[in-house]
Amino acid sequence: VVKAKRSKSRCRETIASLGEFGLIHLLRSHLKAQNPEIIEGIGNDAAVIRPNAGWDLVFTTDMLVEGRHFELKTSDPFSLGAKTIAVNLSDCAAMGAKPLAAVVSLGLPKNISASWVADLYEGMQGWADSFGLDLVGGDTVGCRDITLNVALLGEVEKGKAFTRSGAKAGDVLMVTGCLGDSAAGLHSLRHPGKKGREVRAILERKHLTPLPRCIVGRFLVETGWVTSCIDVSDGLSSEVNHLAEESGLGAEVHTSALPISDALDFYCGEWDLDPETFALNGGEDYELLFTVPAKKAGEVLNRLSAETGASVKPIGCMVPKPKGVHLIDSKGKRSLFRPKGYDHFASSKFSQKNLTFKN
Ligand SMILES: [Mg+2]
Repeated sequence: VVKAKRSKSRCRETIASLGEFGLIHLLRSHLKAQNPEIIEGIGNDAAVIRPNAGWDLVFTTDMLVEGRHFELKTSDPFSLGAKTIAVNLSDCAAMGAKPLAAVVSLGLPKNISASWVADLYEGMQGWADSFGLDLVGGDTVGCRDITLNVALLGEVEKGKAFTRSGAKAGDVLMVTGCLGDSAAGLHSLRHPGKKGREVRAILERKHLTPLPRCIVGRFLVETGWVTSCIDVSDGLSSEVNHLAEESGLGAEVHTSALPISDALDFYCGEWDLDPETFALNGGEDYELLFTVPAKKAGEVLNRLSAETGASVKPIGCMVPKPKGVHLIDSKGKRSLFRPKGYDHFASSKFSQKNLTFKN
């Protein structure tokens, strides 16, 4: 990934002294479209994109606001830029789409340094380049709190986009990667010190610069097996409930099957925290949660890791709606699996700031 290059003069400049046109110049300094669908990129009143015949466009947006999604004391501008792109790429991956183009809107306080903005943009550009995404325009506006918004277009073969509503009773629920690392990374950033230092960097990196599952999304489209899909942004408990709700089903998740990394296990051991709580409700993992018919589950397990390099685990199954959404612990005890992940508009007891991790 591109490393931030700063000039000394730029470090002293604020965006107020740079001005809007100076800022736009900074942002477009090394833009070159990599997708042939981009007819006109940055530099006009709007970008011109010609989608491939026989493909559908997928359109998504995600916004990050200072104090709500990130804190300046726990996030450097390069990581923040990378994450702003990553969260949008993750939504694109959850639809099975290939990233195409994005526009970026930045709300920035005018006393912010030009070098901070340059680093933010290096992060955005680095993640966009790595995942075949072209940044084709944007807007900047003076703002009290830093506000970063991306709108992203992706492409998927006609009629092949995943939905949340296609799961059938009996389908196996699968999730890529590990769950809970990002939330533990945030815990680590907020509680500096020696405890758990062996794994802090691993967990913090998962939180600061997540890698969206674009390759997995495309692989899953090719197989044609997936019946529903969602990315894990708000926490597994919320996403399982979304899939069940949209598909008109219930679901069962086995806690013993949760993919918990060695790093999370170690960190929680040091802090006397429960790794399962992080995995179930932590959020911001940006893994893919999807369903496949039971008879395809074995093939998915065999092929997905071999062909994409991502790990994948079956964690439960979809059941008829009257059975509800349940968590089953290692002793076979069932409990209601309520959405306890991040909800921006929910009462404070469910907000991430107050998310409690039981000891
Ligand atoms: Mg999503």
